[in-house]
Amino acid sequence: MTTLLDLFKTMEYGPAPESPAAVTAWLEEHGRKFGQFINNEWVTPKAAKYYSSYNPSTGELLAETAQAEKKDVDAAIGAARTAFETWSQTPGVVRARYMYAIARNIQKHARLLSVLESMDNGKPIRESRDVDVPLLARHFYYYAGWAQLMETELRDYQPVGVIGQIIPWNFPLMMLAWKIAPAIAMGNTVVLKPASYTRLSALLFAEVVAEAGLPPGVVNIITGSGKAGEMIVTHPDVDKIAFTGSTEIGRTLRHLTAGSGKKISLELGGKSPVVVFEDADLDAAVEGVVDAIWFNQGQVCCAGSRLIVQENVAPRFIQKLKTRMGHLRVGDSLDKSIDMGAIVDKSQWDTVDYWVKMGEKEGGKVFQPDIPLPTKGLFYKPTLITDLDPAASTVQEEIFGPVLVSLTFRTPEEAIALANNTRYGLGGSVWSDNINLALDAASKIKAGAMWVNCHNVFDAAGGFGGYRESGFGREGGREGLFEYVRPKWMERPQPDLSGMGLDAANVPAEKKAWGEHTPSRPARPEAGRANGHGLPPVDRTPKMYVGGKQVRPDGAYTLTVLGAKGKIVGQVGDGNRKDIRNAVEAAHAVIEAKQGWAMRHGYNRSQILYFIAENLDARNAEFVKRIVEMTGRTQKSAQAEVDAAVERLFTYAAWADKYGGNIQETTLRGITVAVNEPVGVIGIACPDEFPLLGFVSLMAPAIARGNTVVMIPSQRFPLSATDFYQVLDTSDVPGGVVNIVTGDRDHLTKTLVQHEDVDAVWYFGSAEGSYWVEYESAANMKRTWVGYGLPRDWMDREQGEGHEFLHEATQVKNIWVPTGE
Ligand code: NDP
Repeated sequence: MTTLLDLFKTMEYGPAPESPAAVTAWLEEHGRKFGQFINNEWVTPKAAKYYSSYNPSTGELLAETAQAEKKDVDAAIGAARTAFETWSQTPGVVRARYMYAIARNIQKHARLLSVLESMDNGKPIRESRDVDVPLLARHFYYYAGWAQLMETELRDYQPVGVIGQIIPWNFPLMMLAWKIAPAIAMGNTVVLKPASYTRLSALLFAEVVAEAGLPPGVVNIITGSGKAGEMIVTHPDVDKIAFTGSTEIGRTLRHLTAGSGKKISLELGGKSPVVVFEDADLDAAVEGVVDAIWFNQGQVCCAGSRLIVQENVAPRFIQKLKTRMGHLRVGDSLDKSIDMGAIVDKSQWDTVDYWVKMGEKEGGKVFQPDIPLPTKGLFYKPTLITDLDPAASTVQEEIFGPVLVSLTFRTPEEAIALANNTRYGLGGSVWSDNINLALDAASKIKAGAMWVNCHNVFDAAGGFGGYRESGFGREGGREGLFEYVRPKWMERPQPDLSGMGLDAANVPAEKKAWGEHTPSRPARPEAGRANGHGLPPVDRTPKMYVGGKQVRPDGAYTLTVLGAKGKIVGQVGDGNRKDIRNAVEAAHAVIEAKQGWAMRHGYNRSQILYFIAENLDARNAEFVKRIVEMTGRTQKSAQAEVDAAVERLFTYAAWADKYGGNIQETTLRGITVAVNEPVGVIGIACPDEFPLLGFVSLMAPAIARGNTVVMIPSQRFPLSATDFYQVLDTSDVPGGVVNIVTGDRDHLTKTLVQHEDVDAVWYFGSAEGSYWVEYESAANMKRTWVGYGLPRDWMDREQGEGHEFLHEATQVKNIWVPTGE
């Protein structure tokens, strides 16, 4: 028998179980069977199939939930559409009241929500009680505030419409909050599908919302499999998809929504680094690693799953970490004194185990502490794998479990290179007592959330989201609002893809020929340029512009440019894949150089943009003449275009040092900074309308914000862009910042969108081209911005410049820096 003295000596905890009684009563009240939640009512189709939810800590059957059929999805989307008519017109101040009532109601039911969350997911009650549910309430408070302020602070924006939301199982309530709160604050209505493993807390939340009095149809919850998810994604009456989950399914959804005009945001997987420098407080960093990788059993998209520690302190650090691991307590999620609960499901447990064995096979040394696990339930020991090669699949792939891999480095440069050696870019932390070093590393690691001397700190006021294959779009903060609004002037893009055979799911092979191009032949004789009197004009064929130099096209083919009267007005190079690859290389070289374009301060970039404007204006008459000659438009109209182009350059010279980011008012004691970083290398296919202004309107915001660009000028009227080299040459623009490749727009765009080293593609060509750009971008999840072949008035300042452009030219990184001793 254990005596008091024994306990004194061992300091052993006893169990501190939370009561499941209230949850049991709620489940029993529903007969442990749930239908769909549509229009604030439970809808139970008679023929429904059911799915069983189990408690992963005990294996106990909790309840059965319906598997949605098409008619359920249709009904939910129909309800959301009807509700949108009134909800979108409901004043923001009224929506704020509803959201405040929801936030209050969450707090009133906080205990029930957190107990259910822990029973359904397996996460420790300590976490659901102190993190998940408080953050759920916090999001509704925070976005109630934005609903209140929308009409004054976002007066140029309108809601998007009906939003389809699909969430994973790792933070069921938190993910739901991240999605629903900003959406309804901005006047949208939603249909949300929780993950199959964890459906129950979303259903309880639905009742909490209804009790708070939210009008029917604003929030609808559909339970079902991935198939039901697909039905939501492909439904024609859904205006936007917001998804969190695996990169693989994210890719499928990008394919399914390609060309449809639906907005989409994707929060995908990660393999986030924890970088520990030699001067870090090692004990604090050990605790940081515990928060980074063993929080929620490591089932966290931004889990610090790659430890990168400086070589000279690595042995000491690893020893301290192993000792700490020996004190972690793993057990029933309702025990208040455990550190780690259960893995969500047997299949996930198997995946985790597969990767640990793989780590061993790949030469890693696996360490698991000698701690007891409950005999029943899906528990897994905290695991550390050392001695792996940086290229090992265990180091590269997301495991999504309590498994940490560790690497070492010697210099800060090496640490950053290792941290960035991943296809992901969701989060990361740096540990150092040298604030300069820590902030330098945080700014150089490519990820949407960087924590200094902490990890996995979240708040509604700080945005969250990925770089690279971790997805795009932000949730949280002011930046999260832009996922749920559209500019006031813009209707939902409804591109006409009919007759093109572009069935998103089954693309016919013959349609894959998009972007194929046969090099050009001589123009027809009647287009010949000799005019029969006087001297023939001296032939001048503009070259490509790559790395600040005029270069001949790789293929030595040319493309004829016909003027308004059908006569040849010039010829340009007919670019090919090689030309694009050279241009991308040049764009990369200048962004990555030590004093690269992205590293320059905004003042310098603004000076250069003013200089471009000055030099363009100096050649004003020449550009007017060229536009008239190519397009046949009037002198007056061409003059207006050139003047607008000069003005636009002034606009972005202005924005070059005024869009850096802001301080976020999060709950962290310290500073949270949102930095608007450049996206990287952007490929830009320009519209045919306004050959000069379209070009300038797209190039200027991109370079103002530190990106480098590969421009494909208007295919029909490329000569304004080729004339532009000389303006660039005389304006101190470093070689490689702006590269220009002329030729077949779709052919060149295809290479850009398939290029692994291009970070984003902007495309203002046809509806079909827009479809393909979105479809092909899924290969490395690059960001896209397309015009769907719809008109845009580039002369209009509302449509042709401003926040929409700046938003596309940047990605937000939130850096969290705690202060104090
Ligand atoms: P998934 O990406 O498969 O699931 C996420 C959500 O998408 C779920 O609601 C799922 O429904 C739904 N879904 C599945 N297939 C489709 C489809 N074809 N169309 C529309 N919706 C679909 O993640 P998993 O839960 O299967 O986890 C797999 C891996 O994903 C994990 O091991 C981890 O690596 C990663 N992951 C990343 C997360 C993150 O936060 N970044 C979160 C969760 C997982 P259903 O549950 O019914 O299948």
